[in-house]
Amino acid sequence: MKTVRVRFAPSPTGPLHIGGVRTALYNYLFAKQHQGTFILRIEDTDQTRFVPGAEEYIREALNWCGIPPDEGVVAGGEYAPYRQSERKDMYQKYAQQLLDGGFAYYAFDTSDELNEMRERLQAEGENPQYDAASRMSMKNSLSLSAAEIKEHINSGAPYVVRVKTPQDEEIRLNDLVRGDVRVHSSMLDDKVLLKSDGLPTYHLANVVDDYLMKISHVIRGEEWLPSAPLHVLLYHYLGWEEDMPEFAHLPLLMNPDGKGKLSKRSGDRFGFPVYPFDWKNPQSGEVSPGFREAGYLPEATVNFLALLGWHPGDDEELFSLEELVKSFSLDRVSKAGAKFDIEKAKWFNQQYIKEMPDSALAEYLLKDLSDNGIESSQEKAEQVCGLMKERVTFPQEIWSTAQYFYQPPEQYDEKMVRKKWKADASDALLAYAEVLEKSDEVLSAESAKQQLQQLLEDRQMGLGKVMPALRLALTGQGGGPDLMSTMEVLSRQEVISRIQLAVKTLAADK
Ligand code: GLU
Repeated sequence: MKTVRVRFAPSPTGPLHIGGVRTALYNYLFAKQHQGTFILRIEDTDQTRFVPGAEEYIREALNWCGIPPDEGVVAGGEYAPYRQSERKDMYQKYAQQLLDGGFAYYAFDTSDELNEMRERLQAEGENPQYDAASRMSMKNSLSLSAAEIKEHINSGAPYVVRVKTPQDEEIRLNDLVRGDVRVHSSMLDDKVLLKSDGLPTYHLANVVDDYLMKISHVIRGEEWLPSAPLHVLLYHYLGWEEDMPEFAHLPLLMNPDGKGKLSKRSGDRFGFPVYPFDWKNPQSGEVSPGFREAGYLPEATVNFLALLGWHPGDDEELFSLEELVKSFSLDRVSKAGAKFDIEKAKWFNQQYIKEMPDSALAEYLLKDLSDNGIESSQEKAEQVCGLMKERVTFPQEIWSTAQYFYQPPEQYDEKMVRKKWKADASDALLAYAEVLEKSDEVLSAESAKQQLQQLLEDRQMGLGKVMPALRLALTGQGGGPDLMSTMEVLSRQEVISRIQLAVKTLAADK
């Protein structure tokens, strides 16, 4: 295989959609697998759609996922600049080459004339586009005389350069995901290559840059498949056929119900994030929620995205980034759209949280604690995380579901109280508190259990009668992590005072 150089080429028109992150990820995996180069190129030739902050967002998204570009804006590289607005002057030369070769032409039509043409063709039942069939009825350098062309150009009126698509030709390309793709040229229109402001459109800039940057493989979303035949034509017209990259168009991400493409609106409708992290619209101030703030770990997000459209060939689902680099292959990218199943994303998050070192998870908890004005030692935060990590989907749930590690319960689960808070259990707990009071060793899960068992034996009571009441007294809840370990984390004095508080509060309630 030739030297692999792939690019992720987003336009900074807003926050990077999670589908864009997947495209970037597949490019990264492919590059790393082949000891190639992953490039970030910013396609910002459409100044009208430029959104401040979007490029920074894109870069941060790649960093958050752990897939930074080897080359590109910021990283730099041999083919700099990597921002198309800084390469403006490079494209005209190629537009001229196409004009000189008879593969492109000037077009002078006004927007009213273009609308008229579309309406007329529509009324006639024809394809309403500027193409091989309609171009001779329009104002361009193919239909006008040399004198008229000169007059138009000299008048200073705006004009564009359009590609001259062939009338009757089959354009073929081999797509690494979709196989043989054939499109008849009558389906194509004479796309604008150079706009009236002298800037290239996406098509020209994209092809020229892929060529100049020696891109070996174009891996991008399926929404660009309709543009691919035109790109193939441009390679051909510019004499770059030999250097044409291979194409791989990735399946779309679909809504969870399989209906329609995943979009910003799907996020609002289904109530899940569709961006890697929060994005605040600079104009409206509206905030679109992101995976990061919702509590998804980058590793879990990457693993989830990798499997949206690629299947490893066996049942394995958990892949670190390094494992993905080893296993990924374009052969096993499916053609069919991939359903975005947020439940699966949650499942991945759970798996990664379980495996996360307590010390790393503790960082999240310590942040939530400090936001709530609570101090904790690193050691205690780690203990709490160790106990809770099997039970949560998101790091923030540790604080939200287990505040009792830091604060006595303010209320007790009513249903549990009704079912489990009995007089004999309450008496036994008070007695247990006395036992603990007398003991002078540091409370461990083991000693707590031994002492409780001993007491219950003396009273001829079963653990089953007392444990739910004890849990209720300590946590206010009916469920939670191992109770004896919970006591160890709470410490002896806290256990005693919580038992006393519960006995008092719940007796007063009756
Ligand atoms: N600028 C295009 C985008 O916004 C790039 C498409 C491509 O990769 O060719 O996605």
